Amino acid sequence: MTGYAIGVDLGGTNLRAAAITASGTILEKISGTTNFSEGRDAVIADIVAAMCALRERHGTAELAGIGIGVPGFIQFKEGIVRNANNLPFLENFAMRDALEQRLKSVVYLENDANAAALGEKWIGAGRDTDDLILLTLGTGIGGGIISGGRVLRGYLGMAGELGHITVVPNGSPCGCGSQGCVEKYSSATALSAMARLLQLGHDLAAKEVFEIAKGGDSRAAKALEIFRVMGESLGILLATLINTFNFPLYLLSGGMLPAWELFAPHMLSTVTKRSYTYRTTETTTRIAQATLGNEAGLYGAAYLPWIEAPLRQKDSAADQVR
Ligand SMILES: [Zn+2]
Repeated sequence: MTGYAIGVDLGGTNLRAAAITASGTILEKISGTTNFSEGRDAVIADIVAAMCALRERHGTAELAGIGIGVPGFIQFKEGIVRNANNLPFLENFAMRDALEQRLKSVVYLENDANAAALGEKWIGAGRDTDDLILLTLGTGIGGGIISGGRVLRGYLGMAGELGHITVVPNGSPCGCGSQGCVEKYSSATALSAMARLLQLGHDLAAKEVFEIAKGGDSRAAKALEIFRVMGESLGILLATLINTFNFPLYLLSGGMLPAWELFAPHMLSTVTKRSYTYRTTETTTRIAQATLGNEAGLYGAAYLPWIEAPLRQKDSAADQVR
């Protein structure tokens, strides 16, 4: 593998991109605020401008392709964004084809959490395994499943929505229409909501709840209780995942990792209690912190052209035969 690929992280408020070599070295990283309120054409124009700028500096012939992590459901094979709460104007839009036409380069769209999981597999905490699951603990909970070194996507590309697995039957209503989803108990938003219910304060950031928990007073006891709920809920999810997949590695990332010491003991004891598979494989099944932080999505998106291009050629050859 020679040359470089471009990874793009299309966040809720900004666009970050990096030119990354086949061995994982970042040649250049750019970031800018994109005016998402101006709609689809403005976002596409911003992406095209950023890609052209990187390509001009690092070479057109050397570019293997472009991968874009998008926060939403992606119909991978067709390159269509099916659902994106933060970017509704992209829904049902054939974004990949639109970008390929403008850029004359190969483009892949991927769910942002899937891209982050792939990044951890390529360069991060999962580099020594081909099978892992990443949970991103943010305002919601995202999930990415890497099986045999590739993203496990399901038949349309929408697998890995792990934040909406039920951990409390008849629990808190969730925006997805279900109840008791793990992201209602273990996301940053959930921590803030539980802190409000326990009258610790309005709109506290997860970090503030963490600070209160260290205080040693009655407020600290309430905050510790929140981290117990968070940890147990994650533990139930992880037990389910371990029983389902029997993978060697489960990674957690996101802004709540600094509170690891508060929630992880509850998480691990719950996994131990609830998963026979985990108890049987405890010395080789690891539940650990991801290592790439915000960069995981950029790496994973840039990795897509390297691993998907041969398969895409195979797919299109098969389509022609049909
Ligand atoms: Zn849900």
